[in-house]
Amino acid sequence: MSAHDVVIIGAGMVGATLANALAQRELRIAVVDTGSPPVVDHSQYDLRVSALGRAAECVFRNLGVWTAISAQRVSPFRKMVVWDAQSKGAISFDAADVGEPQLGHIVENSLVIDALHQQLGNYPNADVLWATKVEKITPHRGAVKITFKGGECTAALVVGADGAGSWVRKHLRIGARGTDYDQRAIVAQVHTERSHERTAWQRFLPTGPLAFLPLADGSCSIVWSCDRPLADELMALTDEAFMQRLGESFEFRLGKIGAIGTRKWFPLSRSYVEHYIASRCALIGDAAHTVHPLAGQGANLGIADAAVLSEVVAGAVGKDIGTRSVLRRYERWRKGENMLMMTAVHGLQRLFRVQVTPIRQLRGLGLRLTDASGPVKQLIIRRAMGVGGDLPELAKCSIPIVDA
Ligand SMILES: Cc1cc2nc3c(=O)[nH]c(=O)nc-3n(C[C@H](O)[C@H](O)[C@H](O)COP(=O)(O)OP(=O)(O)OC[C@H]3O[C@@H](n4cnc5c(N)ncnc54)[C@H](O)[C@@H]3O)c2cc1C
Repeated sequence: MSAHDVVIIGAGMVGATLANALAQRELRIAVVDTGSPPVVDHSQYDLRVSALGRAAECVFRNLGVWTAISAQRVSPFRKMVVWDAQSKGAISFDAADVGEPQLGHIVENSLVIDALHQQLGNYPNADVLWATKVEKITPHRGAVKITFKGGECTAALVVGADGAGSWVRKHLRIGARGTDYDQRAIVAQVHTERSHERTAWQRFLPTGPLAFLPLADGSCSIVWSCDRPLADELMALTDEAFMQRLGESFEFRLGKIGAIGTRKWFPLSRSYVEHYIASRCALIGDAAHTVHPLAGQGANLGIADAAVLSEVVAGAVGKDIGTRSVLRRYERWRKGENMLMMTAVHGLQRLFRVQVTPIRQLRGLGLRLTDASGPVKQLIIRRAMGVGGDLPELAKCSIPIVDA
């Protein structure tokens, strides 16, 4: 039975980030995933893209993977324009307002996960087990035993990074609460008549937000969140009819939609666990919390969880890293930060659904007033970039960031 310091269950963006951060600290780690190694198709865009802020970029720079990611395809964006379909309210954010070259980057999830695993392969102290299902996690002589088909190992600490449906969370009976939005997000790559101007665009419709995210080749990745019946209707349309509806719903802000790739949808929910930790166990990323994608925060929050947990664990090296006092530091650090962002995102989701006239008018006024207020906007930009709040060392960039 092999012995590890940390076993991470889930090798997605968040689990692989933690694995790299701990491997860098020379801990003996194992990562277990039910899936298969990431496959990157360099000839076409991944349908799953994420807007990553400065903090996540710094984490990847400090882990030595940003060069590999940016050498493939990343799309820096400088501005964000948001407007309300039901009022005259609009707001725009510009990186220049906070003296930064960009607000963030649009990255393809598969490229990031692949880069993280390529780098992880360089560490002799890290093992990755693909297509492996953990069956049991049990206490074992001051550690935990992780049992899977065909083997077992021990660890001082187990981390659940196995996504929204977390098996670890359920197995350890950690309760989760939340809201099923009964919405779906339709994603696709589209080509537009006019340039995206390195801007992330989002229009709030009564049925949910529609975002156009700028990609490096001039096309856009759309995220169209809407109620389930509408999503079903949109998914059933022909490409031509879908492109027409998409253009209309976006007020043809970037002109006509000229071409579209495959469409895919994802269910949307907000969830959060009451406790991020249990005996010798911690939850990170979507296993601990999920948010509506309207503010592009889910992966950013998960990457911050990984950075904080690695810092807290590294601070306890030489002692028992799985004790409650160590894990409580992680929970205290991240729970409040995550809750703040999740509450703000949920509030926005609810606010933009209200169709009562006085509220719509107030919402429009609120957007215009915020747009005119420099300091408030700067605060929002910094939070969205992930550079506000209490940052772990891994999320700080010591080298100046140059314009991409
Ligand atoms: C439409 C959409 C748009 C989004 N846009 C953004 C954005 O712009 N910016 C942003 O920051 N976030 C965004 N998000 C959120 C982001 O995608 C997620 O927060 C992020 O991918 C979560 O990563 P994770 O590693 O925690 O979980 P996952 O990506 O779900 O990874 C979990 C891993 O665990 C593995 N696994 C599952 N079950 C088991 C098991 N029992 N045992 C072992 N392994 C297991 C899976 O195979 C997988 O590899 C978006 C989400 C959606 C749906």
